[in-house]
Amino acid sequence: MKKIYVIWSFLDVFNGFFYQILTKNTYSPYFFLKCSTFYFGINKEDQISIKLLKLGFKYMILTVSKPWSEIRDACKQWDLQTVAVISCGSCSAQCGTGGTEGLKKIVDSLEQDGIQIAASIVIEEPCDKRLVKTDLRHIQNETQKIDGYIVASCGMGAQTVREVTDKPVIITTDTIMMSQTERIGLYHEKCRACGKCVLNETGGICPITACAKSLLNGPCGGVIDGKCEMGGYQNDCGWVAIYNRLKKLDKLELFSKVRPPRDWSLVTKRSTVNQRKEMKDYYACEE
Ligand code: SF4
Ligand code: SF4
Repeated sequence: MKKIYVIWSFLDVFNGFFYQILTKNTYSPYFFLKCSTFYFGINKEDQISIKLLKLGFKYMILTVSKPWSEIRDACKQWDLQTVAVISCGSCSAQCGTGGTEGLKKIVDSLEQDGIQIAASIVIEEPCDKRLVKTDLRHIQNETQKIDGYIVASCGMGAQTVREVTDKPVIITTDTIMMSQTERIGLYHEKCRACGKCVLNETGGICPITACAKSLLNGPCGGVIDGKCEMGGYQNDCGWVAIYNRLKKLDKLELFSKVRPPRDWSLVTKRSTVNQRKEMKDYYACEE
């Protein structure tokens, strides 16, 4: 019998609670609408995927699907005969690389290649270790004899799955950027989490993402009529945009400031963030 679930509440905490109950036996894509969240689920036996309603969402890590030949080669390399497929119900669902849509395509392709699917599941946010642990418990019987996991998510989700299992994990996507959403289907890269933000000196425009060479002092000699040489003078030069912005704000003295080379140690330093400890240290310094 087909069952379709629709849950709505104003508080995410309740939605998360219901979601956990539903995902135990369902494929459950969901979407966000303003401050409230809706979840849709369809009875697992029916194997039906419903289209994710793209009305709005909270954040976005953009992914694109790897060529299937690359995934096939990885499966061969790791001797995967029987697998469980995990699909991201958040950002990757929005990109079409995950969610029920992505999951179905992957399951079909694996089956065509003769690989057995022991279980398949959409996890709300595979980058959240708590959710991954909980959801994998729901399929623990099916996954006892698998050779590995196929994960349709960004690199964070795949690595989270890898951390809670001793089986091989194959990722089906390439992660391309953290993005700002202008509207559904139109995204801009605005930050690369470089570890030393210079927005206060550049009029709020990030040179790491706005300049094709990520220069901290620009523009370089490759600018002609405000266009960047990289990409054949199609795109605006980020440093000309910074100049124009600072000029408009009457802060051109910041443009002349020479910034030292980027400190790359800051990029790699923050592989782990202990927010509770950092906030404690921060407030201890302030006192
Ligand atoms: S400088 Fe750019 S990349 Fe670095 S933290 Fe600021 S916005 Fe992000
Ligand atoms: S032309 Fe401008 S955007 Fe392009 S690399 Fe040079 S400084 Fe960066």
